Amino acid sequence: SIPLGYFGGIGLASRNGILFKGSNFLDVMTKINTVIMDKTGTLTKGVFNVQEVVTDNFDKNELVKYAAAIEANSTHPIAKAVVEYAGEPAAELKAENVEEISGHGLKGTISGKIVLAGNAKLLKKFNVTYPGDVDTLVDTVVVLAVDNRYVGYITIADEIKEDAKEAIEKMHSLKLQTVMLSGDKQAVVDKVAKALGIDKAFGDLLPDGKVQKVQGFKDAGNRIAFVGDGVNDAPVVALADAGIAMGGLGSDATIETADIVIQNDQPSKITTAIKIGKITSRVVW
Ligand code: ADP
Ligand code: MG
Repeated sequence: SIPLGYFGGIGLASRNGILFKGSNFLDVMTKINTVIMDKTGTLTKGVFNVQEVVTDNFDKNELVKYAAAIEANSTHPIAKAVVEYAGEPAAELKAENVEEISGHGLKGTISGKIVLAGNAKLLKKFNVTYPGDVDTLVDTVVVLAVDNRYVGYITIADEIKEDAKEAIEKMHSLKLQTVMLSGDKQAVVDKVAKALGIDKAFGDLLPDGKVQKVQGFKDAGNRIAFVGDGVNDAPVVALADAGIAMGGLGSDATIETADIVIQNDQPSKITTAIKIGKITSRVVW
């Protein structure tokens, strides 16, 4: 039979908007020494807004229309921002044969022209050269190429969640190591890590790169809680000792794979979950 303390723990968690999928995870929480978090949607709101459109011998409105026509085929938060910014005029153009290249962006055809919309890695993949300052921009960017020529970029920005800094401080006061992983560019990742005081931050990661990083921390003897929201996060959520999903904006696959779900997406609930695990285990024994 399950000791009473566990029911108390699961109930207490539930009243705090934290769903434990099994009483064993209360115990697991007492052993965690490292919290690894995804950036977009976990520590930031995951809602992007277009900031600036920069072109290179290409009409600005045309660039926005091209980008939106391609991005209309993606559910990525970046894609939503571009489509929303373009508004109705984007509907004039239709992209065909659109392919989503994981961790890179999109490739498609518009009026017979091959269009790429994604990060610098995407352009490199197709051997399209672009100005070096694109790499050093401290913003998330959607770079555009038409028929293998770089034509410009759109910068977009996301906001850090209100309680993210407090969440990291609470982790540090519990002597937990903090790590952030992201598919976004390193310059953006470094800016967010610095603002939040995160111990280690790794950007430019493909979905498989996130798995390798988490495995590396595990192999080094750490007990890991991983917190994520996106479809790409499901494999790492599965790999962690405690897989935690953001339940509000999170993808179904990630929520389903998770051991623990934070219903209102607040990062400060991560330490609440750890504390409840510790209190409950003390009551049990
Ligand atoms: P993360 O959730 O960590 O940001 P993703 O793998 O979803 O990781 O995305 C990684 C990067 O790939 C993004 O930061 C962006 O540069 C690029 N990317 C992915 N999908 C798109 C898209 N639909 N449009 C433009 N860029 C994209
Ligand atoms: Mg994410």
